[in-house]
Amino acid sequence: MMTKALLVVDMLRDFVDEKGALYIGDSSAIIQNVSARLQEHRNANNPIIYIVDSHLPHDAEFNLFPPHSLKGEWGEEIIDNLAPHEKDIIIPKRRYSAFFGTDLDLTLRELGVKELELTGVVTQICILYTAADARMLLYDVEVRKNCVASFDEEAHEFALKEMDKTLGVNVI
Ligand code: ZN
Repeated sequence: MMTKALLVVDMLRDFVDEKGALYIGDSSAIIQNVSARLQEHRNANNPIIYIVDSHLPHDAEFNLFPPHSLKGEWGEEIIDNLAPHEKDIIIPKRRYSAFFGTDLDLTLRELGVKELELTGVVTQICILYTAADARMLLYDVEVRKNCVASFDEEAHEFALKEMDKTLGVNVI
């Protein structure tokens, strides 16, 4: 049987708390849905990996987006409702893709993971580019539409279609 892991991407205060720097808008549904996925994967004893946007003050991404998720600050923290458990894995990143410049691939290989379920935000940014790298590395990827979200509905729909038709992600 293939080992499956749950990735929870950027469910941080700066994205899903109304006081956050890049608040995506009403996040109650996605928080509830991701929480349910966490419960199911915990019950199945699957690895849980939190991906955390963790920027330095001069990061290049701030040419495109207002400063957010600064390392060690309030906005970089995972929201209380989805707090990690002790054995969960937390991987910081500074780019859209959770694979770029991180040890996510190494971590997944060591765990024997072949299949990823991607949840979190933002659909057309960190979810899409993480899904792209995961597929390039030949992981099987699943995305539930109600477990990803965006501040831009049109871009959200585009990204889901791109993941489905171009990347071969199992979009449910
Ligand atoms: Zn960022």
